Amino acid sequence: MFHYYYFGIFAMLPVILFGLIVQMKMQSTYSKYAALRNTKGMTGAQMAALILRGAGITDVQIVCTNGHLSDHFDPTKKVIRLSEGVFNGTSIASVGVAAHECGHAIQHAVGYFPIRVRSAVVGITNFSSKLLYILMIASIFLNSYTFSPVIFNLAILCYAVIFFFQLVTLPVEFNASARAVAQIESAGFGEEDVRGVKKVLSAAAMTYVASAITVLWQLLLLISRSRRNN
Ligand SMILES: [Zn+2]
Repeated sequence: MFHYYYFGIFAMLPVILFGLIVQMKMQSTYSKYAALRNTKGMTGAQMAALILRGAGITDVQIVCTNGHLSDHFDPTKKVIRLSEGVFNGTSIASVGVAAHECGHAIQHAVGYFPIRVRSAVVGITNFSSKLLYILMIASIFLNSYTFSPVIFNLAILCYAVIFFFQLVTLPVEFNASARAVAQIESAGFGEEDVRGVKKVLSAAAMTYVASAITVLWQLLLLISRSRRNN
């Protein structure tokens, strides 16, 4: 992967390990609560429909999509895509994930500020990610002192943009989960359900924290290397 080229495996090891632990924790928490039926026997799709109706959102569709943990809200198409297990599943995890995606739909509907910032920087973030790969290829071919500072500075800029995106993603994710928990509580689910939903969504939120830390780590490594080179 790209960051190994720039930083070497050992410099990246702490964040790689942290990322792996967070991923494993998320997978195991999800698996645990995906196997526990919620007290209402409600599917993720039913949960989502209930929340959207309650929020007065009528222009968002709820559809079933392929893949595991592929659930997301697409603001451009105005559609909540739920993975099969969430869409048709009656587990605690199913209603939790469905409620979380509805949280994003509500954020859009009410013009929640961090999600507007996030949407505004999606384009430049995707561009920066692509540019990083071009820089990697360029640095292989142009491995000379004249080009290095330019590549370093551009790469720093790209990582800074990506880090900013990851940073504004955090309030968006935490807020969607807080909205989801409130919905689960007000829908009259049992205490066990609420506790499970909180655990699933917290574990999922940690993956976003880990991503942000990984990018910050890369950014700081790159800055320290560029200083050393100058
Ligand atoms: Zn989310």
